[in-house]
Amino acid sequence: MDEASYEITSLVELQLLESAILRKLNEINVLKKNEKLQKLQKELSEINEKLELSDKELVGLEHERKKLEDMIALQNEKIKKNEEKLFSGTITSAKELLNYQEEIKFLKQNNDNVESKAIELMISIDEWKPKIKEIEKSIARINSEIEMVKKEAGEKTKVMSDAVKRLREKRATVISKIPKDALAKYEETKTKKGGIAVAVLKDRFCDICNMEIPTGEAEKIKDLSKLYKCPLCGRMLIMYRDEIDEIKAGIEN
Ligand SMILES: [Zn+2]
Repeated sequence: MDEASYEITSLVELQLLESAILRKLNEINVLKKNEKLQKLQKELSEINEKLELSDKELVGLEHERKKLEDMIALQNEKIKKNEEKLFSGTITSAKELLNYQEEIKFLKQNNDNVESKAIELMISIDEWKPKIKEIEKSIARINSEIEMVKKEAGEKTKVMSDAVKRLREKRATVISKIPKDALAKYEETKTKKGGIAVAVLKDRFCDICNMEIPTGEAEKIKDLSKLYKCPLCGRMLIMYRDEIDEIKAGIEN
C-alpha cells in the first residue's frame, strides 16, 4: 500500500458509508416487518370471520324457511284430504261433519300463521343477501390492497438491497486505500465510542461531541493531512475541508 496516497478524508468517507449501509439495512427491516401489511391481514381475517358468521346466519334462515314451507305443504295435504272426505258423501252424522269443518278451519288458520312467518323469513333473507355482497366486496378490496402493499414493499426492498450492495462495494474500495494501522485505530475507536470513530473539526467545534475545543488545543490543529484526537470526546479528529461536503453529497445521492 502506498502510504503517501492515503487521504485521511477516506476515514470520514468510510464512516459515512457504514452509517448509510446501517440506515438502509434498518429500512429493509422496517419493510420486512411491514406494519401496513400486518394491519391489512388482520383486517382480512376479521372480515372473513364476519363473512363466515353471515353465511351461517343465512343458511340458518333458509333452512328455517324450508321447514315452514314443508309444514305448509303438509297441512295443505291434510286440508285437501279433509275436504275430499267432507264432499265424499260418506259422512253421515252432523257431529262428524262439524268435526271435519272445524279441523279444516283450524288447519287453514294455522297455515295462515305459518305463511306469515315464512314471509317474515323471506324478508330477512333478502336483507342478508346485500349485506353479504358488501362483505365480499370489502374482502376483494382488502385482498387487492394486500397485493399492492406486497408489490410495493418488494420493489422498495429491491431498490434498498441494490443500494446496500453498491455502498458495500464502495466501502471495500475505500478500505483498500486506508493503511492497516489507521483502519485498526478506526475500528477500535468505533467500538469504544458508540459506533462513531471519526469527528470533523469546523470553526473550532467537534461535529460529533458538539463541544468547542479550547483555544490552546485548537491552535495546535492546523495540518489538513494530519489525524488528531478530539480532546473532549477522544474520537479521531480531522480538520474540515470542502471535500467533506462533496463526499457526503456523493453518498447521500
Ligand atoms: Zn469531540
